Amino acid sequence: MAKTLTHFIGGAHRDGASGRFADVFDPSTGQVQARVPLASAAEVGEAIATAETAQREWGSWNPQRRARVLMRFLELVARDRDELAELLSREHGKTLDDAKGDIQRGVEVIEFCIGAPHLLKGEFSTGAGTGIDVYSLRQPLGVVAGITPFNFPAMIPLWKAGPALAAGNAFILKPSERDPSVPLRLAELFLEAGLPAGVFSVVNGDKEAVDALLADDRVAAIGFVGSTPIAEYIYATAAAHGKRAQCFGGAKNHLVVMPDADLDQVADALIGAGYGSAGERCMAISVAVPVGAATADALAAKLTERVAALAVGPSLREGVDYGPLITRDAVDRVSAAIQRGIDEGAVVLADGRGLVVEGHEEGFYLGPTLLDHVTPDMAVYREEIFGPVLVITRAQSYEQALGLASDHEYGNGVAIYTRDGDTARDFTARVNVGMVGVNVPIPVPIAYYTFGGWKRSGFGDLNQHGADAFRFYTKTKTVTSRWPSGTKEGASFVIPTMD
Ligand code: NAD
Repeated sequence: MAKTLTHFIGGAHRDGASGRFADVFDPSTGQVQARVPLASAAEVGEAIATAETAQREWGSWNPQRRARVLMRFLELVARDRDELAELLSREHGKTLDDAKGDIQRGVEVIEFCIGAPHLLKGEFSTGAGTGIDVYSLRQPLGVVAGITPFNFPAMIPLWKAGPALAAGNAFILKPSERDPSVPLRLAELFLEAGLPAGVFSVVNGDKEAVDALLADDRVAAIGFVGSTPIAEYIYATAAAHGKRAQCFGGAKNHLVVMPDADLDQVADALIGAGYGSAGERCMAISVAVPVGAATADALAAKLTERVAALAVGPSLREGVDYGPLITRDAVDRVSAAIQRGIDEGAVVLADGRGLVVEGHEEGFYLGPTLLDHVTPDMAVYREEIFGPVLVITRAQSYEQALGLASDHEYGNGVAIYTRDGDTARDFTARVNVGMVGVNVPIPVPIAYYTFGGWKRSGFGDLNQHGADAFRFYTKTKTVTSRWPSGTKEGASFVIPTMD
């Protein structure tokens, strides 16, 4: 019988009270492995009230004391890394090594957050006027919330929670209802690390829980990551309630292949970036753009050969390149997108539909799919597919390739492979996309830089992690003070200036 999961509120597991549940699958077998409660507005309200109380104490701790809790948390994650990775792999379906990477990229942001005391320093100007000093303080917002997607159940919650907590906020996480177990374990580990009860909560749920967070005046900021339609909805709704919001959405990442590139290196990069984690990454490469017919023909041949050798199977099996998709619905949706591409004239070099993995016949598998001669008018080019599907869109020139990536409605990531420095410099300067790789297929910035897409891949101001995250999770107070205080100037009716 499938176990029933909980929420994590006020430092303790809490059974769901709404009577509503969602199934959590093991995508490798297709079986339901747990039920997750879907919170009601009342349960969300309780989490917010607990967080508000807990934040008063947490926010009053000095930043170094708070950072020590994060240090201890890192030790606990290291202690439990294998267990966390297996839990993640079983619920998400990514391979064990990839699950470890998911955790590690989250850990790297927490490591960065240990430096919060430095990042929270204000500015100071002495003698700005006679006896006048001006300085600024960075203060926590209070209670903030994160709403996160299924595809990085450790990394993205930690990207949001780390800076929010280090800055002195209480954080409420509404993780994906598809794989909530790792977020619940993270809540346990934060508590064990010494985080006061109620400072980090997990409310599981769906739209009802999200809407309750959006509507509640006690929640000061919303960090969202997920699909673009929901990102837009959350951004608009949060703004309508006067909240700060940063909302990151979908993607269609191009990799431009110049004729001078090493095509074996490019093919390897495309296979990893296109099919790793079954293509369920917002930084996956989903469009290869070879420049020139000769480059395209040679690349298509190398990709076809490599795709045929890919091993797809249960996430915990040794030697598997990628595992199942998250749900049966996802398999059906991606399969329909492939069919639409074929109907619109794409040339099939590999069709992964109908893959059956022996002994795991009910698992949510889809083999690697490679489509050539995909043109910008086709849905399979325009829309995010979020599955193991790579399309080849041939360009006749560098300018055309640059234009394709720049004009696409999404602007998350992009890469160029070339041996020519001039071309690479021109590309990085001109391409209209937020994160760029030069001979790097998945340019997810390191923790002390910031992560964020442009155009319809990101809504709101300021990126995730890096210094931006500390700006997002704090408000600036600016103080103008005069010492000695006794100067007598009489009443003044003009605006003070520093003349
Ligand atoms: P999703 O948009 O379906 O769900 C994301 C979150 O929103 C979940 O917590 C979900 O419960 C909630 N949600 C879903 N529908 C909602 C609704 N109608 N109202 C309120 N909340 C709702 O996304 P997903 O399928 O979990 O994740 C995949 C998507 O996330 C892809 O589009 C991918 O590109 C994107 N993504 C983007 C980034 C980035 O940084 N840009 C990173 C990872 C994933």
